[in-house]
Amino acid sequence: MPATTRSVCPFDCPDACGLLVTVENGRATAVSGDPDHPITRGLLCPKMSHYEDTVHSPRRLTTPLRRVGSKGAGEFEPISWEEAIATICSRWQVTIADHGAEAILPYSYAGTMGLVQRNAGHAFFNKIGASQLERTICSPAKDAGWKALMGVTPAMDPAEVEGSDLVILWGINAAATSIHGMRDATSARRGGARLWAIDTYRTPTCDAADEAFLIRPGSDGALALGMLHVIERERLLDRDFISANVLGFEELTAQILPDCSPAQMSAICGLSAGVIERLAREYARATAPFIRLGSGLTRYGNGAMTVRTISCLPAAVGAWAKPGGGIFLGTSTGGAFPLQTVTREDFITDDPRLVSMNQLGAALTELADPPVMSLYVYHSNPAAIAPDQNAVIRGLEREELFTVVHERFMTDTARYADIVLPATSSLEHPDLYRCYGSYHAQRCSAAIPPVGKAKSNWEVFCLLAAGMGWDEPFFRLSADELIELLLVDENPWRTAAVTERLRHGEPVMLTPHTEPKKEWLTPSGKIEVLNVREGEPLPRLLPTHAERDGYPLRLQPATTPFALNSSFYEQGDLRSKQNCMELQMNRVDADARNLADGQTVTACNDLGTVRFTLRISERVPAGTVVTEGVWWREFIPGDRSVNALTSQRLTDGGRGSTLYDVTVEVRG
Ligand code: SF4
Repeated sequence: MPATTRSVCPFDCPDACGLLVTVENGRATAVSGDPDHPITRGLLCPKMSHYEDTVHSPRRLTTPLRRVGSKGAGEFEPISWEEAIATICSRWQVTIADHGAEAILPYSYAGTMGLVQRNAGHAFFNKIGASQLERTICSPAKDAGWKALMGVTPAMDPAEVEGSDLVILWGINAAATSIHGMRDATSARRGGARLWAIDTYRTPTCDAADEAFLIRPGSDGALALGMLHVIERERLLDRDFISANVLGFEELTAQILPDCSPAQMSAICGLSAGVIERLAREYARATAPFIRLGSGLTRYGNGAMTVRTISCLPAAVGAWAKPGGGIFLGTSTGGAFPLQTVTREDFITDDPRLVSMNQLGAALTELADPPVMSLYVYHSNPAAIAPDQNAVIRGLEREELFTVVHERFMTDTARYADIVLPATSSLEHPDLYRCYGSYHAQRCSAAIPPVGKAKSNWEVFCLLAAGMGWDEPFFRLSADELIELLLVDENPWRTAAVTERLRHGEPVMLTPHTEPKKEWLTPSGKIEVLNVREGEPLPRLLPTHAERDGYPLRLQPATTPFALNSSFYEQGDLRSKQNCMELQMNRVDADARNLADGQTVTACNDLGTVRFTLRISERVPAGTVVTEGVWWREFIPGDRSVNALTSQRLTDGGRGSTLYDVTVEVRG
């Protein structure tokens, strides 16, 4: 008899959807959205609608493997778990004896978002004394920009969008990356709100908006400054709100805004001065304007400043004081669960070095002291997703580098491994999930047994701890016992009743530690437009990195509804919906280069060369080219994908990646 069990989507997406999984004879046969989940309400994205095809894909790795061919050739032979663990531990013991434990580098990010399995390696690598990985590939610049202005003020409830009369989806293709945010925005529109989209090319989100405004990549801060200039010049500021709630708006007005006229900002962002003026007036005159900000606009050299500048807009017009008004970047529920009970920072004895995950290529090739002699990758695919792919692959090709990859599929990274370990999918292990698109959380149990000999992250680290001869009781706990540690304490984020519902697998809403929009958790108690603790005390115009690189086209790596970074390429149906690894280009740029739709083209810059199929599209403005998704090498025309063109440079705040800050030339 089929049975239905609750689970949670584990992928790096704001929503952590509630799933209903149909199980027959130990196999997942169908997956649907949980209609009783407060955010999901039955709606899943196309990626997860057939998650059972991922879970039971014939491509799943089902047994440990040892490399028998050259690095990258993907030639392996099966071995037992015992042999795999013994090999890894004995290699690490030699590495530690010869070079010290810092010669071991873990690499992981958000391949699974569950608090236990995502963070399962921290305790192990803290105890062994490995180099620490600075996990900053996504959007730490967003946090840095918000913090500079708003301190630790919690995010507003994004559901407030329903009360807004002007919704702005700024730098977010919500139709692809935040489908429930998109549903709520279009619901507000049906209720009478206007919906604007601001982006760098015409995405499906733009199609669903009343108006779309296309700007040059990385120029969002210029647009915001131009709008602030007009709002101040035309006396559209909410002076009462500013005097009660904002620190330093006078300094911004006196020192920065005079040089940010619509004409000046037009030259940078590409919108006409008249359009900037209209945007400013309509924004300021809206009753409760709501901005939802994406993450992509932070992946530039000026990313933190961009967030800080745009976030001045609701302060300028007093949007925060109105139900439905404000700006939403994402929730942070870090206080809700005592994560240190899983990550065990207390195991750190020395002061291990920090390696940026955005500079893996440098870490593997610029042989520091000690050099990285072993790389352990789990639920991540750095050969595809890390910047500067050529440097990463040069590093992975080092014969003396001992690489272990724990994965569900033979990814681009796994092909370079010395040992490959088969990983469970989220349906095969328990976990506790929170999310960053709202305030909900949910615990789930395994819905099916492991596929083949797959093991979870936590199980493998327990085996490795035993293999290293450690007698630490922590590594004998089960994943469910770790979840209990996360639930055990008294916590203002969740009442005892909420915690009990969590224990029973129900989706619950957490309560932020302070009521959003009621007080500003900054040192001054005000929104700090002027923040003298920052290197840049005021928001101002900052250039991107790539402006100085000298290639004529801005390359925009972008999202697709049918993949999530390099995840989901195992599903042929989803792949075929993306067609192939395309480069979208405006006809003006194509004609100037004598290029035709459908031909293979080469995009290049100082870092690399990548072959794409050209798609001539009026959805992309002249001067910008777009590619969606992070393709696996086996499905692309050449042997390098988009990140052969992205750099290891970091953002202005938060040491984030600058994956969107790229210029290229394109040839036939
Ligand atoms: S990827 Fe996002 S939208 Fe899709 S099912 Fe998972 S959480 Fe929901």
